[in-house]
Amino acid sequence: MIIEKKKGFLDPKKKKENKENKKIENKKSANSATFKHSAKKHNKKETKVSRKKMSMGSRYAVKSRKRMIPTITHLRDDITLGIKPRKVSKDHVRVIPIGGVEEVGRNMIAVEYGNDIIIMDAGLEFPTSDHPGVDYLIPNVSYLKKYKHLIRAIVISHGHLDHVGALPYVIEDLGNPPIYTTGFTAALIKKKHSEFKHLPTPNIIQVKKGDRLKIGKEGMFFRFFGVEHAIPDSIGTILETKFGDIVYPGDFKVARDKDNNPVEVEEYEEMGKKGVLLLILESTNIEKEGFSGTDEEVAEGLESVYEKAKGRIITATFSSQIERVVDIVKISEKLGRKVAVLGFSLKTNLELAKEYNIFAPKKDTLIDIKDVDKYPQNKVMIICTGGQGEENSALVRIVNKRDRNIKIQKDDTVVLSSSIVPGNERPVQYLKDNLARQGAKVIHYKMATVHASGHAYREEVAVLHKLVKPKFFIPVHGFYFNLVRHKELAMELGMPEKNIAVPFCNGTIINLNDQKIEQIKDSVPANFVTVDGLGVGDVKEVVLRDRNILAQDGIFVVFAVVDETTGRVKTSPDIISRGFIYLRESQELLHEVRRIIRSTIEANTKIHPIDVGFITEEVREEVGKFLFQHTKRRPMVLPVIVRV
Ligand SMILES: [Zn+2]
Ligand SMILES: [Zn+2]
Repeated sequence: MIIEKKKGFLDPKKKKENKENKKIENKKSANSATFKHSAKKHNKKETKVSRKKMSMGSRYAVKSRKRMIPTITHLRDDITLGIKPRKVSKDHVRVIPIGGVEEVGRNMIAVEYGNDIIIMDAGLEFPTSDHPGVDYLIPNVSYLKKYKHLIRAIVISHGHLDHVGALPYVIEDLGNPPIYTTGFTAALIKKKHSEFKHLPTPNIIQVKKGDRLKIGKEGMFFRFFGVEHAIPDSIGTILETKFGDIVYPGDFKVARDKDNNPVEVEEYEEMGKKGVLLLILESTNIEKEGFSGTDEEVAEGLESVYEKAKGRIITATFSSQIERVVDIVKISEKLGRKVAVLGFSLKTNLELAKEYNIFAPKKDTLIDIKDVDKYPQNKVMIICTGGQGEENSALVRIVNKRDRNIKIQKDDTVVLSSSIVPGNERPVQYLKDNLARQGAKVIHYKMATVHASGHAYREEVAVLHKLVKPKFFIPVHGFYFNLVRHKELAMELGMPEKNIAVPFCNGTIINLNDQKIEQIKDSVPANFVTVDGLGVGDVKEVVLRDRNILAQDGIFVVFAVVDETTGRVKTSPDIISRGFIYLRESQELLHEVRRIIRSTIEANTKIHPIDVGFITEEVREEVGKFLFQHTKRRPMVLPVIVRV
């Protein structure tokens, strides 16, 4: 199916594709022209191509040894600008992973049938260093926005941010459709929405496992089932269609007993007996062999670590790991330790958990963080956020001595009850180092069983496939490679390859009925959308690229005044630079640059009126080239040419 898609991409006979490809090729050659350009002699024709094709500041932006924004994003940009597909005939159901199949996070899946659109999850993704200054990445809903009058429901599987976090940013674009979810998740959603004053109260329809209700206008039904995951009240969805049931558990793991026999899987068994058309399943931990740890194992592991602690204990975990926190409080009670909770999100989540009877500490267990010193050190447990070394998290504030109440002291035991999210290795290392420097004993997940993943490992994923026995399968949630590994597992378990559709990228369109499943060559827009401060979607690729250049090689601003009548540069051009080189120590280089600016400008002022735009480009080109030759750096060159 992927191959088909690829063919569609490249088939030269197809007129439209051909045109699109040319566009891309043009872009490419514009790039390579620029490269050649800086090495070769000046060539007017080439410059013209690149001038037309490339935007401001980009010519010296291309830096092959450093990774910029993934190219696939640009490629897709060209293809999907038109927002075409819809036309869903009644002989198939359509599934579109809007986000979450090229990354971990930003999960969103759209299902279309006739005049109904159902959306499953609306998550955000935390940016990597590719996106400097950006707060979150969210799914691109521009296609869904166009057809918002057909959106009948958003189902939210659970309250983790990669499933629910984009809601406040997209709900209006989606036309405020009803949100179907469980009580606890609903409480989290309402809490979050209350921070967005301009949003109307979310229209939430509370559901629970076992519920069955009609959805939309085309005769579809929702059924819900319980799901084991790292947050309370997770729920899976079965969408009953004309062709059969579509099963989407969201994030899951499989509960098991000590001998690795799966338990509490009756609901999956039942689905399998009834027959399942399509399984849409997460692939987060597909590369990890065996089973993920259980909550019981973690509780035991934590208890044995806590028992050995001589002084205070500080346990850091994710604020969304509510069940873990509940366990930690229970163990603390057992060991006679008072508990102080630190961290805003953790406190809020625990308040909600209390309201929903998930969390019921004894009357005098919880103490205020200010009162910690009133108790003997071996009677204190502090639970906080910050196990990932996140800036401004409670634990990092403590370590940086910015917390008013808690300072690390000798005999403290700090337990990091989380694994390291990829990309956070450095901050976690600094955190461990600084804790150790200040005399704390640090225990992390590689030293003791103090954490278990909330996502199924390969063996558990296999268990689910064997129980549900779907006819068709779409792997989601993970990088493309994860999805392929998941497909391989399904095939090992006996599923024919033609029954599996691995989404080629976000925005891929998959059609299926009871006969077959196929990816079509069309797709919908799915390039990422950024959230930065108050802006949603206004930090585009160009802005990010500029931020990357500025971060890597700085900026070089040239200011020159040209006499309109004589065509000569008046006085010496001004130069301002940040993050490139220290100007005061580079007088010789600056002298040379000024000479180049002057000669470049004056070579182009023979015509009247003076073409400032053209001269600006020439100066950018020449100065950029010169700086690269002499420093092997490519700062952003910004010429400002003024006529007088
Ligand atoms: Zn989750
Ligand atoms: Zn997730």
